[in-house]
Amino acid sequence: MDSNLKDLLRFVEGYLGEDGVKVFRALLDSDKELSYNDIIAKTDLDEQTVRRVLYELNDLGMVIYKRVQSPEDGRFIYYWLVNSYGINQALLNRKRITLERLKARLSHEMEAVFFLCLNDGIRLSFDEALELDFRCPKCSSLLVQEDRNPYIEPLRRLVEKLSKEVEDERRSLSD
Ligand SMILES: [Zn+2]
Repeated sequence: MDSNLKDLLRFVEGYLGEDGVKVFRALLDSDKELSYNDIIAKTDLDEQTVRRVLYELNDLGMVIYKRVQSPEDGRFIYYWLVNSYGINQALLNRKRITLERLKARLSHEMEAVFFLCLNDGIRLSFDEALELDFRCPKCSSLLVQEDRNPYIEPLRRLVEKLSKEVEDERRSLSD
């Protein structure tokens, strides 16, 4: 299964539980719009549950409907379908949140840089070293930056990759 799709189903499950996943999958797997009755037949859920779930999915912008008047008795029939635009928007929002978390983590890791005096092995945080103009408090020799924090580079690459994805998707959605 497509990883975006998996992500999406996890998202639906988090919001609406197993019933939400059943209804949403029925719509995803169908190549045409589905009425309440079609969805009930495909999911074995009762009508009230199907209505509630569709209402919630619609509220999340993940499904849309069209209303058709029956030529026989004039009653309205609702046909439901997946809103691909809304889905992409929801996925993009999730990616944005992940990106913000990674950025915060990266800046935290960048702050965790230490400075050393090679003569007496004194180790100071960036702030402490800054305070002392990067001079050792004991022998006044210039402090050197400790070997890079090994988390920074992979994190930076991940942030770059995700930023680019978010930017590309944002652009393609606003076209
Ligand atoms: Zn020193």
